Amino acid sequence: MLTLLTKIEQIKKVGPRYLKKLHKLNIRIIRDLFFHFPHRYDDFSQIAPIGQLQIGQTATVQGKISEIKTSRTWQKRINLTEAIIEDKTGSIRVVWFNQPYLAQTLNQGKKVNLAGKVTFAGKTLCLSNPTYEIIHGNEQTHTGRLVPVYHETEGLSSRYLRYLIKPLLPLAEKITDFLPQSIKKEFQLMDLAEAVRQIHFPKNLLSAGTARHRLSFDEIFLIQLTALRQRQKLNQAKSITIPFDQKLIKSFVTSLPFKLTDDQRKAAWEIFQDLAKNRPMNRLLNGDVGSGKTIVAIMAALEVAQAGYQTALMAPTEILARQHFQTFKEFFIKKPKLKIGLLTSSDNLTNSDKKTNRNQFKKLIHQGKIEIVIGTQALIQKNLSFKNLALTVVDEQHRFGVFQRAALQKKIYQIEDGLPTLPHLLSMTATPIPRTLALTIYGDLDISLLKELPKGRQKIITKIVAPADRDKAYNFIKNQIKQKKQVFVICPLIDQSEKLEVKSVTQEYEKLSQKIFSQFKTAMLHGKLKPKEKEEIMENFKKGRTDILVSTSVVEVGIDVPQATVMMIEGADRFGLAQLHQFRGRIGRGMDQSYCFLFTDSTAKKTHQRLRAVLKARDGFELAEKDLKIRGPGDFSGVRQWGLPDLAMASLDNLTLIQKARKAASEVLENNLITPEMETKLKEMQKDIHLE
Ligand code: ADP
Ligand code: MG
Repeated sequence: MLTLLTKIEQIKKVGPRYLKKLHKLNIRIIRDLFFHFPHRYDDFSQIAPIGQLQIGQTATVQGKISEIKTSRTWQKRINLTEAIIEDKTGSIRVVWFNQPYLAQTLNQGKKVNLAGKVTFAGKTLCLSNPTYEIIHGNEQTHTGRLVPVYHETEGLSSRYLRYLIKPLLPLAEKITDFLPQSIKKEFQLMDLAEAVRQIHFPKNLLSAGTARHRLSFDEIFLIQLTALRQRQKLNQAKSITIPFDQKLIKSFVTSLPFKLTDDQRKAAWEIFQDLAKNRPMNRLLNGDVGSGKTIVAIMAALEVAQAGYQTALMAPTEILARQHFQTFKEFFIKKPKLKIGLLTSSDNLTNSDKKTNRNQFKKLIHQGKIEIVIGTQALIQKNLSFKNLALTVVDEQHRFGVFQRAALQKKIYQIEDGLPTLPHLLSMTATPIPRTLALTIYGDLDISLLKELPKGRQKIITKIVAPADRDKAYNFIKNQIKQKKQVFVICPLIDQSEKLEVKSVTQEYEKLSQKIFSQFKTAMLHGKLKPKEKEEIMENFKKGRTDILVSTSVVEVGIDVPQATVMMIEGADRFGLAQLHQFRGRIGRGMDQSYCFLFTDSTAKKTHQRLRAVLKARDGFELAEKDLKIRGPGDFSGVRQWGLPDLAMASLDNLTLIQKARKAASEVLENNLITPEMETKLKEMQKDIHLE
């Protein structure tokens, strides 16, 4: 007897060839099959009398085959099956291409449904390549109804999946609903078993929609529940309380060479409040490029140091770590007693000493004699321990993998002196995240936003460059370089293939260095280089030893090269708007006017419209929201890697749904409504998802 847990190989229709394909989609038992959803429907619900068919109409006709024959057009070697089907009202010609087996299945006199579009062939109406179905009784699977269409990946046709799933569907009744009745009622959700039945073979479009809503809700709900639980767990942990020191912060802020922006003040205030609590902060500082996140982190570190505790700041690359070390030193110049350290795989430095050897250096950290430790992944090595670490800061946090971040929590959070505590965590990112995404993937974090840029920033002049203006742009760039300015060149994005990307960068590099800009020094950067090589190339560029840096989209985040005034982006239309904005954020950091050139060969109106949004946008957040709207969640940068289930993915721009699912998750958690089925679902989901 078949059950939800029956392995699919036990179904007769699943032979070895299909089994392999289904396994590739992670479909192993009947239940999995039910949770493989169609993405749309063909509406073949209208059964039309043949005599009334109109050109262009999509319809199902029901009738008898009065003639059928197969021939081969010898020239093109196309196999042609021609038939006539008739009902009481008339007859119509039908043709199929390259389906020779049809004449064996559909013989003369058979009662069939044919569904498809009515076209005009010569002088008569014609159904070309319609979906067919032999009718026994009332059962209609491929015609005469809303017909589910599945993504035809792995060579699994929708027809096969329908044929497989439909007869099994009565089993769906056995699916236990993991949502409590009260939640279903409050959020007006369809029953799970019913939703599964309706999403595959809906009564009508309305019930298909209700089913999809329920199943999307489920996916988002589970993500939210995971996040909220994580947060709950963290709330149970203890942390060191850092009382707000108003005098200290006031005097520091007045000593700054600039006025903080309102957003910086607000973010700092939110952080101070978190630090003053006895449970760990878990906050994301989300600020546009150049919005001044570093200074906010510096203020937090200052408070922590004043209270007598340590801070660790981890950056994704050695150059960035070094850059932060310099910045911290400069801002703390009036506090020479405060010891700041830099720890990377190749170096360790402090602000006061000359060279210390590695072991001595680690000892200083262990004894709490270095208050602020800035570094790379070197910070997460096993044998490094702190005396009293109260704050960890992760810069450009999206650049770290899940494992690295987990390691950071385990290693850095080492407990000394019997203090049973976790440090406060401040993550920073320059990737503006639309609200819906933030709520979903960073659901366990509190978020502070820096939207405004410091006053007096130069506005970057951004231009869209058509192919005809290419030489003009090149000449302009040459003039800039002659004035000792530097140039970034970003090569077009190439999907999926790092190899092709390297090829494209290499070609661009050769073209620019040998032909266009041969009198200048050009360097090349891409993801296949070793970290050391990358660092060296960036360092050379930073120091002004190269004029032009040709790069893939890997160009270092957060890097500050004030003399760089030109950002030239090839194939700009291939990038997301937010990403273009990120590239542009690499320039305009010094005193001089900067320029961003968006090269595109496209003449499509839509493309230009999209690119013009970059010219107009006030900030990265606006662009990120726009991008999400225009391109949809699937193409939004980074989202694909998270491995979200399809419906969750498609719901990432649906704020209402996300808010509702979040509310439901928090109610479930608060009222202890987690069922064993829910636990199972959570586990399943967590296997596939890796949110960054
Ligand atoms: P990001 O947010 O991209 O990490 P940074 O922290 O590197 O930005 O800051 C960019 C630059 O802006 C730095 O040179 C910093 O000193 C400067 N800066 C930060 N805040 C302000 C401010 N309120 N007014 C003027 N300049 C500021
Ligand atoms: Mg930064």
